[in-house]
Amino acid sequence: MAKIYAVANVPPEVSAYGMAKYSRSSAPLSDTLREISQEKASNFLNTFYFSYGHASIADLAHIVLAIEDISMLAAMTLVDEPLWDGQERSTRYQNFLTAPYYRPRGASAEFDQFCSQLFAFYGELLQASLEALQIRYPRPEHMTSGTYQRTMQARALDIARYALPLATLTSVGQVTSARVLEQQISRLLTSEYPEVRDMAQEMKIAVTERAAFSLTESLGQPLAPTLIKYADANPYLADLTARLKTLANEIFRSPPTGPEISPVDLFMAADPITDGLAMAFYGTTALPFGWIRERLRDLSTSVRSELIDHLFQGRGAHDGWPKFFRTGTLIFDILMDIGAFRDFNRHRRVNKVVQPIDIHQEFAEPDMLQEFAVPINYHSWMEKYYRSLISGTMAPLDKPYLLPLAHRRRALFVMDPAQAAYIIELRSRSAGHFSYRQIAVKMHHSLQQVLPDLARHIRVTPFEEFDPFER
Ligand SMILES: Cc1cc2nc3c(=O)[nH]c(=O)nc-3n(C[C@H](O)[C@H](O)[C@H](O)COP(=O)(O)OP(=O)(O)OC[C@H]3O[C@@H](n4cnc5c(N)ncnc54)[C@H](O)[C@@H]3O)c2cc1C
Repeated sequence: MAKIYAVANVPPEVSAYGMAKYSRSSAPLSDTLREISQEKASNFLNTFYFSYGHASIADLAHIVLAIEDISMLAAMTLVDEPLWDGQERSTRYQNFLTAPYYRPRGASAEFDQFCSQLFAFYGELLQASLEALQIRYPRPEHMTSGTYQRTMQARALDIARYALPLATLTSVGQVTSARVLEQQISRLLTSEYPEVRDMAQEMKIAVTERAAFSLTESLGQPLAPTLIKYADANPYLADLTARLKTLANEIFRSPPTGPEISPVDLFMAADPITDGLAMAFYGTTALPFGWIRERLRDLSTSVRSELIDHLFQGRGAHDGWPKFFRTGTLIFDILMDIGAFRDFNRHRRVNKVVQPIDIHQEFAEPDMLQEFAVPINYHSWMEKYYRSLISGTMAPLDKPYLLPLAHRRRALFVMDPAQAAYIIELRSRSAGHFSYRQIAVKMHHSLQQVLPDLARHIRVTPFEEFDPFER
């Protein structure tokens, strides 16, 4: 019988270390956690997370953060994080009439005048809308007066929010992994808005230096003193944004004029190069996507190729691919041994279609056996084993349990170019297993055939580059 239990009241970095230990130890997590201190966790994370670059360990440390009294503008930037979980104050269920607002440093008295105008108008809109709604929708007989009032108030607040300034203060609660938090803080520290940068700096201090709020006294210490300590502004992202603005001014000289475009336009994905470039420029201009994409299509292949190079210029050792290349669909049909499949199966920004385990699919043979002249007749041993397994009289669903990890399995791995680049860069490294390293290198070769302008920016480690001592 499997042993399953929930774990509570463990500091995030300690539980991350505890779970990471499954990788190296057969001990139950409950035993491991009893032995681990924050100091031991910090030492481990310094080595594995920072020195060996095992990024997914930081996925295991989850951190709850309260981010209160920030402007709605800052909150919008804060939550723009794909793996973010959280909640913000609702404009439907809270009346913001007397809410404080954010004042940028050195803002003039005019700033306050504009804010007061909007808040005053908000109050007027709320009152007038409430009255109009009550006339239009009288209280149904089955509804209590309290429920009716709250419902109408919520509908009126939905209208009044049109007048709320983005300076209005709001509060956000979030739960993220330390990996996401590190990326989030780095992105926010790169913002052009001082408030957003200040907020990011405070977030960093809150998890690395300040004791956390805790209902259990022993936990009142900083939650992620190790994993977040290097979170810093990202010069690559900052330069890229500046470069895109300059390039956009050169390329898009006559922006469209005329009738207002429709609020929703649907575009089918074109090729990942044109779409990726169009998204990059879209994010730094106020131009419609379709128009940008058409202008880019008019450019020669060599000019577009140069533009692609601009997007990668200055990419640091720890910077991922720009998010603009999370577009386009690449379908890899991969036949691999189950050992390698287990490793590839862990990639999440991938849509997998896996074929059932087929006992007739045969087994893989590690090249290393020949290369190191290992004195074992692997092939004939495996063949004999497979023959007896296939002809055995066991129940069909018992047989898959008796297949070795050498057994082959076929699966589709569907992803965008950015994820393909991520997998190729990570899985081709010398430290990895030779089976998935070969697959990663082959994925790169296939990409070179179809998207050479993107493939050349993938930092693939050639298969021959092998250091047995690298970790
Ligand atoms: C050398 C090496 C040794 C390893 N050893 C072990 C081991 O001993 N035990 C073990 O269990 N595992 C091990 N692993 C596997 C590892 O822990 C990861 O599970 C695996 O590498 C995939 O994780 P990833 O987060 O890096 O990539 P992906 O899952 O491919 O994620 C790629 C990126 O996308 C982000 N992302 C993921 N999902 C989403 C989403 N829905 N939306 C937006 N972004 C998303 C991720 O945060 C990440 O930044 C090892 C891996 C390597 C490379």
